[in-house]
Amino acid sequence: MPRLRRGRSIRGNYPSSVDHAINPPMTFKIEAVNVVKAFARTKPWRGDQIAKRHRLHNALCKAYGIHPTMRFGIGLGSFYDAKKGLIVLATTSVITQLHEFAHALNGSDEEYAVRWSLNMFREHFPLSFSRLRFEGHLALKPPIKSKKKEDRHDS
Ligand SMILES: [Zn+2]
Repeated sequence: MPRLRRGRSIRGNYPSSVDHAINPPMTFKIEAVNVVKAFARTKPWRGDQIAKRHRLHNALCKAYGIHPTMRFGIGLGSFYDAKKGLIVLATTSVITQLHEFAHALNGSDEEYAVRWSLNMFREHFPLSFSRLRFEGHLALKPPIKSKKKEDRHDS
């Protein structure tokens, strides 16, 4: 969720750590659980990821009876525009998509969005979740030889 590093978002009520974000665990309506469970079975990081993300979006919308639109756009970061009812995703990150969907569900509450997305992700992608590193509440992908990041975290 690189966009969360931006100054614009940093003022939100983010949970202070991943432990706060996932504990106590959140419970979800069964329709949503089934949607993400089915999505996980489609091997989300293989094949046409964009089509799979749209299918996930449409199924989540149906599960909650809400109708935000979602599109991919490069360069603006990922965000939810409440006025337009629009989710814009800059990447195919599943956690980011879940995070922005949670904003569509419950407004600008960052704690809710972080808790919702991380709990949902952990429940259905336990292996991927276990490989994430966290910086506060921010989920970072496993290091891929990023010199910059390594320098920062070694200190
Ligand atoms: Zn957010």
